[in-house]
Amino acid sequence: MLSLGLEDATVLVTGGSRGIGSAIVTLLAAMGAKVAYTYRQNHNDQLPGLALQADVTDPAAMDAVSEKVERALGPIYGVVANAGITRDRVFTKLTATDWDDVIDTNLTGLYNTLRPIVPKLYEQKAGSVVCISSISGERGNVGQINYGASKAAAIGFTKSLSREAARYGVRANAVAPGFIETDMLKPIPDAVKERILEDIPFRRFGKPEEIAWAVAFLLSPVASSYVTGTVLRVNGAHHT
Ligand code: NDP
Repeated sequence: MLSLGLEDATVLVTGGSRGIGSAIVTLLAAMGAKVAYTYRQNHNDQLPGLALQADVTDPAAMDAVSEKVERALGPIYGVVANAGITRDRVFTKLTATDWDDVIDTNLTGLYNTLRPIVPKLYEQKAGSVVCISSISGERGNVGQINYGASKAAAIGFTKSLSREAARYGVRANAVAPGFIETDMLKPIPDAVKERILEDIPFRRFGKPEEIAWAVAFLLSPVASSYVTGTVLRVNGAHHT
């Protein structure tokens, strides 16, 4: 029987309470990983794993998360930096608060999440980091200047980290989902959704589980051992 080799691996998923994050938590737990996940305010008692309330914009809270996970589940092997938000508005209506909220969560949150953990991955000479970017970070999107900037930055972050981390046997990759059916799509009006669907060769939005499988592949020390510094697009050919 073959496996992805994630049995008993300790993995932290940020923003694991809903949507893509909860699909990642569920899949990894089913593969036998020891999963911990964070959330900001919506506790989800249906999920397996260790749930920790922690805002990724709070560096002290994220330091505490890494300590709590290690104490409860052992040394961390995998990190999925998934927590993210949108505050969509065209540029002329974008406020400084919209800008700060998105950059603080999607980009500084990435730094806060990884800052206490990456040195430990280097010490143990093993680990895999997966950052959740977005199609908007690669091709841009109307109304998403703040979000697109944060998600493009996540790719730059990941690529630089992969180059630094390689000498320690640690990998870093990004997943760039297309439009995925989660709460994040709810504010988009139906007419706009119809137009987006016309632009997706698969003619449907993605499912959270389809992102989870891509993440599992990139975490796997077996399946993706020579994959680092890459961006895996999961978007139904919406952007190629
Ligand atoms: P959801 O809105 O469904 O879930 C977001 C998750 O992130 C929740 O668990 C939420 O916690 C958590 N979160 C948000 N802000 C914070 C914070 N400050 N600190 C800690 N946790 C936080 O989003 P998706 O599942 O759709 O998105 C997940 C990731 O995928 C995001 O990075 C998003 O940008 C990216 N993505 C999504 C796409 C889509 O179409 N859905 C497309 C491309 C990328 P709580 O439940 O407590 O609020």
